[in-house]
Amino acid sequence: MIDPQLVIDPHKYDAWNSLALKSAFVFWALGLLVVLGYIIKLSAVSGNKDKYDFINRNEIRALWIATIGFIIGACFFVNANVVELTTLWVFVRIFTTAMMGILVAMIIQNLLKFYYPFFIEKRLKVLRYKPRVSPKTGKPMKLLSEEEEDSHLDEGMIAEENVFSVDYDVWLDEETGYKQVEKYSGHLHAIQCPECNYQTFKVTREEIIKAPSFTEEGELMKHYLCSYCSYKARKTVTLKQQIKVEESSPAATA
Ligand SMILES: [Zn+2]
Repeated sequence: MIDPQLVIDPHKYDAWNSLALKSAFVFWALGLLVVLGYIIKLSAVSGNKDKYDFINRNEIRALWIATIGFIIGACFFVNANVVELTTLWVFVRIFTTAMMGILVAMIIQNLLKFYYPFFIEKRLKVLRYKPRVSPKTGKPMKLLSEEEEDSHLDEGMIAEENVFSVDYDVWLDEETGYKQVEKYSGHLHAIQCPECNYQTFKVTREEIIKAPSFTEEGELMKHYLCSYCSYKARKTVTLKQQIKVEESSPAATA
């Protein structure tokens, strides 16, 4: 005689299996929506500089949230084929699913943190240096060099560029004199680490060793830290001599 306990009813967990499968699709759909939402929002951002900032601020986070959705969906999916279940199996399944999910999440998180920035960096460079078009003439403007740009920045901007890791790009329309100034922050943007070569080297702190005066140049110390290999570096930067602003008579400026 067959013990009825041993007969496996293949449809016993149908309700759970179909719920798990639906949940998997819901989480996958959510992950996909996050990615699509990001792409749509990015394409709605106009202007290279705004796109640059948008990518810097949101891309990795959006991909990370989508990843979590995909992984939770996968966790449901691998548990949507339950035929036999005992109390022990419930715990084994929950444990192994959670462990695998966390493992995959950690791998992807590391990829996003350390490898993905290389890919982002290439696109950011294109966005930053793509010639800006003058709204006055419709022609491409010229990106001024560090030396040329100072005369187009106000004192506050120059001081900021000296003291903080801020870069101003000045685009000039030479025909009409129209200019566009864009600010890029070094604190938000990591550079390549000289030690491990990952795109994870960031300015953490700056201190003025010697303030510039009207007669002498100053000195600034920048502290860098790599978030991957913890490599630290210091760099001294010369601060430009302060420029005395000549009082100009109204007749001269007219
Ligand atoms: Zn490093």
